[in-house]
Amino acid sequence: MKVAILPVGQADVKTLESIQNGLREAFPETEVTVLENAMHVPKEAYDSSRRQYHSTKILSTLDLYSNKVDADHLLGVTGVDLFVPAMNFVFGEARCPGRAALVSLFRLRPEFHGKPADKKLFHERALKEANHELGHTLGLEHCQNPTCVMFFSNSIADTDRKQAKFCEDCHVLVHRALEK
Ligand code: ZN
Ligand code: ZN
Repeated sequence: MKVAILPVGQADVKTLESIQNGLREAFPETEVTVLENAMHVPKEAYDSSRRQYHSTKILSTLDLYSNKVDADHLLGVTGVDLFVPAMNFVFGEARCPGRAALVSLFRLRPEFHGKPADKKLFHERALKEANHELGHTLGLEHCQNPTCVMFFSNSIADTDRKQAKFCEDCHVLVHRALEK
């Protein structure tokens, strides 16, 4: 499959490249490119009372954008904080199955949680969330195995507990989806 990574607003190139390399390892025979021109964060997604961006609204913009991109899946990576109405925040959101996926880096930096900066940890977290959301685009649902990347992260501790990899069962599902 072909995956294109699209910066949504400002995103650090090193982080995008780190996600790119990690995705190549997680998904077999997959071509991953980083698009050079960022998409603006859609203004209509901003909720001024919450001071966060409505993730589903950005995802809708990515749906449209994905038609212009030569890739099976489009992964938006943004620095802004995301929410869906039923939750305080989300690390990301994706079509399940579908083409568009979105991850936020906002809550992945250790500094956000009052910890010292740690680029390696930050990049690991970003890859986990990217693998997770792309897993959704392939039709994978949440997995009950807390070490599987498809486990739902309700907090950063959940993200840190799980691996960047798919568990055996989910791995089979990824392969099946890619064979279609
Ligand atoms: Zn999920
Ligand atoms: Zn799993």
